[in-house]
Amino acid sequence: MSDCIFCKIVKGEIPSEKVYEDDIVYAFKDISPEAPVHVLIIPKKHISNLNELKQEDENIIAHVFMIAKKLVKEFKIDEKGYRIVTNCGEDGGQTVNHIHFHLLGGRVLQWPPG
Ligand code: AMP
Ligand code: ZN
Repeated sequence: MSDCIFCKIVKGEIPSEKVYEDDIVYAFKDISPEAPVHVLIIPKKHISNLNELKQEDENIIAHVFMIAKKLVKEFKIDEKGYRIVTNCGEDGGQTVNHIHFHLLGGRVLQWPPG
């Protein structure tokens, strides 16, 4: 999608602090971190949010979680714990309409979120 900031990040048109990339996903540091580790993992394919996910895309989301598992090891938060969140729509607090998974860790995370 041409006017999507995360599509632009994938294409390198907007700079990002990349932590992982392959053919299917791209992961980068959140510009406004809420925790010592705050990474966004996104599919390279533009999918707006979970509501728009198609059956044919299920392997993409499975891959996102396999990469998340790899990253929690790399960031050494696997033992203490972490959280993976996808916000959807207005009430969910979604501000960027390209599906993304927040990986948060490195501190005690409050529950429930506000
Ligand atoms: P959400 O509110 O769930 O849609 O999350 C969007 C996230 O994208 C927020 O945590 C923002 O800080 C983050 N964000 C927005 N623009 C950028 C950017 N250019 N680079 C990195 N993270 C960004
Ligand atoms: Zn996009």
